[in-house]
Amino acid sequence: DEDRALLSGEVDEDSGYGEADLRPVVAVVGRPNVGKSTLVNRILGRREAVVEDVPGVTRDRVAYDAEWVGRRFTLVDTGGWEVDASGIHLRVAEQAEVAIELADAVMFVVDATVGATDTDEAVVKLLRRSKKPVVLIANKVDDNRSEADAAMLWSLGLGEPYPVSSLHGRGTGDALDAVIDLLPDKTAVAGAYPRGGPRRVALLGRPNVGKSSLLNKLAGEERVVVDNVAGTTRDPVDEYIELGGKTWRFVDTAGIRRRVHQTRGADFYASLRTQTALEKAEVAVVLIDAEQSIAEQDVRVVQQVIDAGRALVIAYNKWDTLDEERRYYLEKEIERELVQVPWAPRVNLSAKTGRHTDRLVPAIEVALDSWDQRIPTGRLNAFLGEVVAAHPHPVRGGKQPRILFATQASTRPPRFVIFASGFIEAGYRRFIERRLREEFGFDGTPIEISVRVRE
Ligand code: GDP
Ligand code: GDP
Repeated sequence: DEDRALLSGEVDEDSGYGEADLRPVVAVVGRPNVGKSTLVNRILGRREAVVEDVPGVTRDRVAYDAEWVGRRFTLVDTGGWEVDASGIHLRVAEQAEVAIELADAVMFVVDATVGATDTDEAVVKLLRRSKKPVVLIANKVDDNRSEADAAMLWSLGLGEPYPVSSLHGRGTGDALDAVIDLLPDKTAVAGAYPRGGPRRVALLGRPNVGKSSLLNKLAGEERVVVDNVAGTTRDPVDEYIELGGKTWRFVDTAGIRRRVHQTRGADFYASLRTQTALEKAEVAVVLIDAEQSIAEQDVRVVQQVIDAGRALVIAYNKWDTLDEERRYYLEKEIERELVQVPWAPRVNLSAKTGRHTDRLVPAIEVALDSWDQRIPTGRLNAFLGEVVAAHPHPVRGGKQPRILFATQASTRPPRFVIFASGFIEAGYRRFIERRLREEFGFDGTPIEISVRVRE
């Protein structure tokens, strides 16, 4: 059901490099009044329980950032979902179904003082069919005497019932331990480079744009002795350069310095170097020769950066050669050829004269900050609620897909997952991406938005 789309181009499913922050989803389901919202507030420590009431938004604000024993997850509270009085049985099942589908693990809440009802049984059927891991919460077990009520719930066939009092906090720790045990393993960090140490920059661009010249200019002044850089492993193809008071690691510089003179295969070699440098880098500076027309090859390098999910800065080199006319045409070419990256910071520089090379580092820092940025789930959903209320998804075939909630699944680059009740059109996804950028910045980083649709 996963419908992935990059705001500007498609992303490879396996490009999840640098996954630092992938959060599983835990849904709290159960019929009305069993204590779901009370439980959610208890888990959140009431940190987010009191949310400002924005009309038309509150109801959809059902997802929260939660943490237990250092494990972060997104907690979904279906208690906030509307349930109409008629056909309550059906509605509960329907809502539970949505929540279960979205979740990596489910907390199924039953009122132990009432026991299992037909509605509970209906949800159990859904849970079984889904094969999702479930922790059965026997709620309202406020004291020892009521523990027998909890034991009755073994009959549901969902394993051990956890006696909990959401009201008083009793037993919630054990229940959460069980939930954490059921969560899928943390997504392994695919990149070989841990956080920390100098940040890694790739200088990219087609042959003769001036990569080698720029590297010399930057390194010439402030070359750093590698042995003095803490937390670095020696890599002879990388160069450590101090700029703006910080040490930066320029990756795969040997590939820049090793001039390739052969004409055959030069393109292939350049593209390969781009790819390997990107794998190691966090941010790419793509050099474009401002003297020349923007070529397909330039656009391809930019696209490679986006596809790799790295931060991006575009530097127009050889600015010293430009006259008024060329400047005019260059701007036209940029508008035409690089429409997909209006968000990339831009520096007009000259590796030869050193003009504006000091602007490179601030641009790189902006891009990396965006790449690292995480929007708290509460803020994200409040914002999305407003956006969707003002500009709802168009009705198609009499149906209007509803955005249930969203979460930022990861940083580096920012990846958002939108949970929706129906297919979200590409145009509407782009609209949401544009609004996200307007609201939160994200200059210099690709953003990925995927939509999980309930079938
Ligand atoms: P929801 O509709 O499932 O979200 O249920 P609520 O969280 O709104 O709770 C319904 C009612 O049950 C409220 O009056 C709560 O105060 C009460 N309640 C929730 N948890 C407990 C509990 O552990 N013990 C007792 N005694 N009451 C509870
Ligand atoms: P690379 O293949 O991308 O590493 O490009 P080089 O650094 O080898 O530069 C290619 C050519 O462009 C060389 O002749 C450089 O002297 C020249 N060049 C590089 N940067 C500039 C610049 O800012 N201004 C001018 N006028 N020439 C430059």
